[in-house]
Amino acid sequence: MDKISYTSLNINPSGIAIYKTVEPPYYPDAEQPDRPKQFQDNSNHGILGSLSRKKMFRTLDYLLLLSPNKRAWCRSLKRYVRYRCPFVTLDLPSAQVHSDQVIKKRVFQPFLKLAHRRWSVNDFIWRAEKQENGNLHFHMIINVFIDQNELRNIWNRCLQNLGYVTRYRDNQLLWHRKGFTYRPELAPRWPREKQYNAYLKGMRTEWDNPNSTDIHDVKNIRNLKAYVTKYLSKNKIFSRPAGFTEKCPVCGGVMRNSESDFCCASCDFSKTHVRGRLWGRSASLMDLKGGFGVVDTQLENELDKLKSSPDIHVVYEDHYVFFCVPVTRLKALGCPHLSSIFEDYIRKKFPERYLSVIT
Ligand SMILES: [Zn+2]
Repeated sequence: MDKISYTSLNINPSGIAIYKTVEPPYYPDAEQPDRPKQFQDNSNHGILGSLSRKKMFRTLDYLLLLSPNKRAWCRSLKRYVRYRCPFVTLDLPSAQVHSDQVIKKRVFQPFLKLAHRRWSVNDFIWRAEKQENGNLHFHMIINVFIDQNELRNIWNRCLQNLGYVTRYRDNQLLWHRKGFTYRPELAPRWPREKQYNAYLKGMRTEWDNPNSTDIHDVKNIRNLKAYVTKYLSKNKIFSRPAGFTEKCPVCGGVMRNSESDFCCASCDFSKTHVRGRLWGRSASLMDLKGGFGVVDTQLENELDKLKSSPDIHVVYEDHYVFFCVPVTRLKALGCPHLSSIFEDYIRKKFPERYLSVIT
């Protein structure tokens, strides 16, 4: 069959990619369309790859697009608060004794379901990470307001599916069995007085509501991107000293260092590397292909205009050229056709939200 080639473009919120399209398709080396399943999986031995990182940032671009600034009544603070994309952290209040997969299935997934039902958390990105103490924890970026006390109650309820609140209470009661017992190792961030107040509160509430969550709004986009770089897209590995041995908290097997992975020889539980999926996103943010167009004279003129704009950075790669230009600027830069390709895509992809997204 004869091959036809033409130039196409693909527009996403942060820029435009231009590339040659050949039909029927021909894929140079790495860009096979149907890569085997294991390479599509975003968990790669607990290390987030560069492709996943790229996808994560693209997802964030779309999440921001769907998330205008809003105002909500905060019951805890008793005043209105402005928000856009709150950043949520969800911790285990006692040592992890289940595999990462079990915690995702029995605690995190039920939490996502409840979050959807109670607060309409429908657009989100999440990331699973290991803390220095070997516990799994989660970060999420959402675009609805959640009261911090409610968040804590719901997350603790989900944690209790696997008994994490009970184990937290037992630990606290044991630690304070002779009355308030100071923890000097926490002092830098948690001075004695605060520890004492937390102790009083814990005794009053029977330690049934551990401080296992954090939520705060990230005020501007640049900060949010810095957050994602710092907390979501990095591979933080807390290595253990060589020869360091302990029992696996899940199965009692022997923990050993396999390169930098401190994991169980029997059940594969790791204190340094997350098992299974490392990150995910809501169904609304899956499959973000962007606006597609074939470059004709009209579009070529607009691309030339962008090329000659002094503040538009153009990156030349082997198989494509990338214009770093936020879609929101296209109209002002005199590129209505490029802009409308993206608008068409948004209208099809997010039909119910089209009007609020495009201004
Ligand atoms: Zn084990």
